[in-house]
Amino acid sequence: MSREDNAHTWPAGPVPAGAPLIRLEAIHKWFGSVHVLKGIDIDLAYGHVLVVIGTSGSGKSTLLRCIDMLEEPTSGHVWFKGRDITDVRVNLNEVRTHMGIVFQAFNLFPHKTALGNITLALEKVLHMPRDQARERAMAELEHVGLAQKALSQPGQLSGGEQQRVAIARALAMRPDLILFDEVTSALDPKLVAEVLAVMKRLASEGTTMVVVTHEMGFAREVGTHLVFMDEGVIVEQGEPKAVFDNPAHERTRRFLSSVL
Ligand code: ADP
Ligand code: MG
Repeated sequence: MSREDNAHTWPAGPVPAGAPLIRLEAIHKWFGSVHVLKGIDIDLAYGHVLVVIGTSGSGKSTLLRCIDMLEEPTSGHVWFKGRDITDVRVNLNEVRTHMGIVFQAFNLFPHKTALGNITLALEKVLHMPRDQARERAMAELEHVGLAQKALSQPGQLSGGEQQRVAIARALAMRPDLILFDEVTSALDPKLVAEVLAVMKRLASEGTTMVVVTHEMGFAREVGTHLVFMDEGVIVEQGEPKAVFDNPAHERTRRFLSSVL
């Protein structure tokens, strides 16, 4: 049975008590003959902030894309709220309305206003009435400090503002978790702080997040758990401060000394 012709919706039934929000179990990903993820296991509880660091090409983006099944793992399982979403009977469009993802490139629609970028999915995907969508979009723009830019188009906004709109757009769906893939990497250094401040605020509000980042200060301060990846494996993980102050592996030490 293909994913397209299955009639199952998701979620169905109660979440098992004590289930982590996300569980990755023995995830492997091959692109052709290239083995990119080599057995990844991660549990993420509600309200936690998982930070993923590692060299370019180590598989961080692929890992993030496996969490919301934009990439299908070659083997292994992704459990979301206690259900195996690698099961072909799961409706991934439904699953994805519960997970937000924010990319390095903001991916805003250039001819829509900030407000219009946010109301679009609320109206089209959640079938929310227009007035209610606008109200929620305004609340989320307020949340990221951009209520006054509601009617600006992306071209009239700075990179930092565009990224904050992209974050507001993800928040407006009221997802169970938000995935961030190097969301400050394309920004002018002086615009990075305003985006990190928004993410820090979300973390303090209890938003569950997975954050791939090169911002080691943020990782240390905001992360509740840190994973260091190299060549498709988790080399080391733990409480961020412990890993930064006392890395157990030579590869982690080498990476940290190259970025700190
Ligand atoms: P990171 O985000 O840590 O820089 P990625 O997950 O983007 O790493 O990439 C890990 C490896 O997988 C790289 O060698 C990359 O070239 C390869 N890769 C990623 N996506 C694809 C794809 N769609 N097809 C083939 N190879 C890919
Ligand atoms: Mg990447």
